[in-house]
Amino acid sequence: MVETTPTHPPAHAYLDELVKQAGDEERLEALLIEVASCNDQADFALINRAYHFAKEYHKDQVRKSGEPFLAHCVEVARILAQLRMDHTTVAAGLLHDVIEDTPATYAEVAELFGEEITELINGVTKIDQITCESREERQAETYRKLLISMFKDIRVIFIKLADRLHNMRTLQYLSSQSRERTASETLEVYAPLAHRFGMARIRWQLEDQSLKFLEPEMYQELRNKVALTRQEREDDIKRFQRPLEERLHADGIKAELTSRAKNFYSIYNKMKVRGKSFEEIYDLLAVRIITGTVGDCYRILGSVHNIYTPNNSRFKDYISTPKSNMYQSLHTSVLGPKGQYVEVQIRTAQMHDTAEIGIAAHWRYKSNNKVPGAFNLSWLKQFGDWEQEAPNPLEFMENLKAELASQDEIFVFTPKGDLHQLPKGATPIDFAFAIHTDIGLHCERAKVNDQVVPLSTTLSNGEIVEIVTRPQQRPTLAWLDQVKTAKARQAIRHWLREEQYDHNVRLGKEALDRGLKTYRAAGPPDLDAVAKELGFSDAEHLYAALGNGDLSVGKVISRIAPLKPIQRTIRPQDRRDIRIQGMKNLLVQFGKCCGPIPGDEIVGLVTRGRGVTVHRTDCYNIGRISAEPDRLLKVDWESDDEPAFTVYLRTRSWDRKSLLADISRAISTVGCNIRKATTHTESNTAEQDSKIAKQDSKIAEQDFWIDVADNEQLRQAMDQIEHIEGVFEVLRVDEPANS
Ligand code: MN
Repeated sequence: MVETTPTHPPAHAYLDELVKQAGDEERLEALLIEVASCNDQADFALINRAYHFAKEYHKDQVRKSGEPFLAHCVEVARILAQLRMDHTTVAAGLLHDVIEDTPATYAEVAELFGEEITELINGVTKIDQITCESREERQAETYRKLLISMFKDIRVIFIKLADRLHNMRTLQYLSSQSRERTASETLEVYAPLAHRFGMARIRWQLEDQSLKFLEPEMYQELRNKVALTRQEREDDIKRFQRPLEERLHADGIKAELTSRAKNFYSIYNKMKVRGKSFEEIYDLLAVRIITGTVGDCYRILGSVHNIYTPNNSRFKDYISTPKSNMYQSLHTSVLGPKGQYVEVQIRTAQMHDTAEIGIAAHWRYKSNNKVPGAFNLSWLKQFGDWEQEAPNPLEFMENLKAELASQDEIFVFTPKGDLHQLPKGATPIDFAFAIHTDIGLHCERAKVNDQVVPLSTTLSNGEIVEIVTRPQQRPTLAWLDQVKTAKARQAIRHWLREEQYDHNVRLGKEALDRGLKTYRAAGPPDLDAVAKELGFSDAEHLYAALGNGDLSVGKVISRIAPLKPIQRTIRPQDRRDIRIQGMKNLLVQFGKCCGPIPGDEIVGLVTRGRGVTVHRTDCYNIGRISAEPDRLLKVDWESDDEPAFTVYLRTRSWDRKSLLADISRAISTVGCNIRKATTHTESNTAEQDSKIAKQDSKIAEQDFWIDVADNEQLRQAMDQIEHIEGVFEVLRVDEPANS
């Protein structure tokens, strides 16, 4: 909550010159002083140029607060300067909205300010509206881009957080709907993100600002109560600190003792989570002791415990075991003079720096702009697979938020004593995946402190966890509900997806074929090309994504251009009848929206005043209505044809004119359909059957493929044929070999 304000701006001649140049540009002047307070060798000319570029391009824009847009750019740059960022980052802060919100182009900015600054700006620029279908997709893609850019250059996240912080500070000017949405997003994504990078000072401000807009009454109440009890608390803290200060002085240990204000959101959150009153939470006094060396930290701890009785269960040594966001401190809780517990944090000045601005403190000591290796960001790296796989935006957001929501950590050990940090609520499955993906995929049983436990057991701090694997063991869908870490969740999903792959390819192909029936493309679609456009290696992977729901049929179809719904030429009266719940020939209409044709899967919709309208089951109108099942009727296509079977008849006759026509007519008169007929004529030879009487004629052998409904109809047809002049044999045969 505290911001450093430079008390001694350096009297740097060059800076003085620039400030003079800045003239009445008060904002620029304040920014330059801020930058100079931590680095008087900074490139002030660059900042000056960036300022004037931003001023020019944003000149016609006004913030909802009524301030010129430029004020936002300068404030973002100032927050960055307060994080003691370099001039490149500060300049990028000034320019962070020019590509997104003004006519300035990437190329233009790159030419004037270089690739480095342009890439930083690009990392925080939202994904183009046009390339996304929905708000969710746009949001997910924007986060994805931000996280990927961040791994290339960590400074992207500083700019994004500074931007968000200033937007939160000016949130009151927005509509109540956008206020709420922005505040929720800040609380769900940006504040936890700041926490992961150890940037407590930014995080607290983001949280308190969010609380102010999400729970305005609660926020006001907390503020009032904190203000009312301030004097009393300060007195209590002085009483606690005095004997301690005397002891440290006597021991020759230099240390600074301060009281430490809790942010409103953490008070609120503790009240909510622990179900306690404000007084119970806020009664705890909190003291911070900052000293020079690690050795002094432990010496001070000894003195504190010597004077006040410690609660041993509350002692934590984050110096020997830093948190994954690099936070280091000794935490202890002791009984104070008034019999109330006092929380004490002891740390070095450098640790304090890291505790306040986290990764920003470490970044400064480094020559490149990668995430410092000391930061355990494996949780975030798992999302690196995103670069290959086009994720389902909803799944992505769910994973990201779940990952960010798990703030508290536990420490558990392998039987060999290797330490693993896991989020609170993690299970042996998470542990198994943390060791190795293969162990996770095949974990069958777990032992915690030598006791066999279910895989869904929640692990606690300090436990020794042993995993028993079995090669045949496989993940199940239920595991997804039993894991906390993104690593485990991603690996399980990935495995399930692979297993489902063949199944999904088939489902996806069917779904797309169905979808495509509605459209007429210029030619057969080049699905491999469409797949590539959508980020898949080929059509098969595209089918698989359709099958598992990562991709919608609509999205694929929208890429197959030019698109026009098929102009249906079938008029309703041409269509076959519909059977509604078993009854035939009822009057129905056909949905113009989806134009069902025989063979489509259909459903009837009861419409007010118009009877029944038939739609395809995948019609969007049916999707909308499916919440009212009473209005849906089961309908089927009524087939005109009775079920038909094809049989083969062979006739032998004395050949004559019109023989084929006569036989055909005979077959038709009993209602059978002739699919095909062949005729073969042969001379009357010696091999002829002895019963054949007319020795001087030729014999015709004819084969017919005819459709019959049943045996009776077949018998009638054969009967008719036998009565035709010249026919002496009619046989039902197996399918002729020459067919
Ligand atoms: Mn902005």
